[in-house]
Amino acid sequence: MSREEKKTQKDMFDEQMRQFESFVENMKESIGLPTFPDMKTGVLQWYDQRWITTRFIISVEGIKEFFDKLLDGKFVTTKCRKCGELYFPPQKDCPKCMASDMEWVELSREGTLLTFTQINVKPYSFAHYDDYIVGIVRLPEGVSITAWVRADDPSKLKIGSKMRLEIVKRDPEKYVTYEWVPVE
Ligand SMILES: [Zn+2]
Repeated sequence: MSREEKKTQKDMFDEQMRQFESFVENMKESIGLPTFPDMKTGVLQWYDQRWITTRFIISVEGIKEFFDKLLDGKFVTTKCRKCGELYFPPQKDCPKCMASDMEWVELSREGTLLTFTQINVKPYSFAHYDDYIVGIVRLPEGVSITAWVRADDPSKLKIGSKMRLEIVKRDPEKYVTYEWVPVE
């Protein structure tokens, strides 16, 4: 089955919702209310719906360098000049010593897979994706980085696998991000 024909969880969820809504429409027509007894408990339910869209606008001014470098194909983070602590994701101020004296340092692109999980049951906002794998990779510098894992054969992944970070423009977000790929 091709990718286009394959039903995503979002398609299936939307289909179930359409069935449910047409059931409620029938109830409104036949009894005059959008009410129905719960199938398990028999408790009377009222159905109504509101669609909620969430938009995120957050300031990234303080870590602008991270995105500038990412677009240049570089993977950087912040290190506290005062206490030497390295952070990922990058921090504007040091949570450990409270200093606001950070320097940008480039990170290694290879590390060790600490743990990973395949996401089969996706949150609704990710339901249009195929199943995906999220992994945490430990870099030699001592920071751990969580990202999607792109693997041709996920069955070969194991804890301790050597992984390489790749900067990619991923569909369907169509923006530049990073993901882990196994080192063959
Ligand atoms: Zn510090």
